[in-house]
Amino acid sequence: MRELSNDQKMMLATVRKFMRKEVAPYSQEMDETQSFRKELKQKFGDLGLFSAIVPTEFGGLGYNLTSFCLLIEEISKVDASMGVVIQDNGTGLRPILLCDDARLKKEVFSMVATKGSSIGFAITEPHAGSDTASISTRAVRESNRYTLNGRKTFITNAGISDYYIVFALTDPPARHRGMSAFFVDACSPGLGIGKKENKLGLRASPTADVILEDVVVPEKYRIGGENSAFLLLMKTLDATRPTIGSQALGIAESALEYAIKYAGERHQFGRPIMEFQGLQFLIADMITEVEASRAILYRATELYDEGFENVTPYSAMSKLFCTDVAMRVTTDAVQVLGGYGCMKDHPVERMMRDAKVTQIYEGTNQIQRLVITRSVKRSGYPFQP
Ligand SMILES: Cc1cc2nc3c(=O)[nH]c(=O)nc-3n(C[C@H](O)[C@H](O)[C@H](O)COP(=O)(O)OP(=O)(O)OC[C@H]3O[C@@H](n4cnc5c(N)ncnc54)[C@H](O)[C@@H]3O)c2cc1C
Repeated sequence: MRELSNDQKMMLATVRKFMRKEVAPYSQEMDETQSFRKELKQKFGDLGLFSAIVPTEFGGLGYNLTSFCLLIEEISKVDASMGVVIQDNGTGLRPILLCDDARLKKEVFSMVATKGSSIGFAITEPHAGSDTASISTRAVRESNRYTLNGRKTFITNAGISDYYIVFALTDPPARHRGMSAFFVDACSPGLGIGKKENKLGLRASPTADVILEDVVVPEKYRIGGENSAFLLLMKTLDATRPTIGSQALGIAESALEYAIKYAGERHQFGRPIMEFQGLQFLIADMITEVEASRAILYRATELYDEGFENVTPYSAMSKLFCTDVAMRVTTDAVQVLGGYGCMKDHPVERMMRDAKVTQIYEGTNQIQRLVITRSVKRSGYPFQP
């Protein structure tokens, strides 16, 4: 990765300070009670984090993908649940950023930048997870508005988002070729939030169903052309999968640093456990994997920012590799701490639970492998523009 710019260094220093002061003292409690401190939303908004990828012309921070991933990585080092609160908002903004509707961009971006509003992203349904093409939520058009009915499941930031990007079928027989995306106000009559899920990891980030019962959406809030949302979804995922990689990298780095410190302080058999070759090899592998994650992640984001056309496999690789590494490194960090690693007095057990989720959402790691090999079928290897 190239050297960080002064702006990026300043941004990271500000976020680091904020996370240590305002979030770290509450992370364990938020995890245990599975609660998101509502005042944090206001503070994230005040820092401009909800408009991180909104172009500067609309009052946002104008981050490219590399800067956004650096931001998510930094937040996730302290609290991966807060990492996904900000990451998911970026996923919500991305389809708007990618569409070519200047009026919609102006309206949404100005609102997000001035009010600190946040946006959730809703594609998954109870019977349509990896197979996103099989969604059944319907959007029926009547003159210049649509009526939406359906149920979206496992939606991050459900209940705390001000708006949702909802994917629905406008031409059901055409399946994914009949899919459209809508920008939906969370206060719309007929929009309800299901029970909050009780999760393994990322427990401080709310996850729930978003239920749509005769929700009316004006045509002007359709994102892009009618029936064109599947391509928009794929393009969105190219940009958002690395952001999950950056969340995973933040988790892994933090677990690694904690394990190294612990191994230097914990004594057994009359010396620090770091002096045992068995642990030295384990830690050397952890360091190597974390550094390899950083390399693959920021290679993908730089290719994206440079406009490299065939970025899909790199995006998938960055998500796959970083999240698998986060799972291994956090599990090994628990091992380094021995019995203490299993106790909630140390954050590594939370990090291990948080890491597991990263292997599943934004497309499971099996799906990332499919995406990579499909890219080979499509354009051969090495991946050329
Ligand atoms: C905490 C959390 C937050 C989430 N947030 C959101 C959100 O904000 N918005 C949203 O829309 N969704 C969200 N999701 C949903 C998430 O994207 C899905 O859970 C994920 O895509 C997998 O779908 P599924 O759970 O239905 O699993 P399934 O698709 O049923 O998969 C089950 C298993 O089968 C495997 N599998 C499925 N198909 C294949 C295949 N073709 N080849 C090989 N293996 C396969 C999978 O890899 C997995 O191991 C969230 C999920 C979680 C856990």
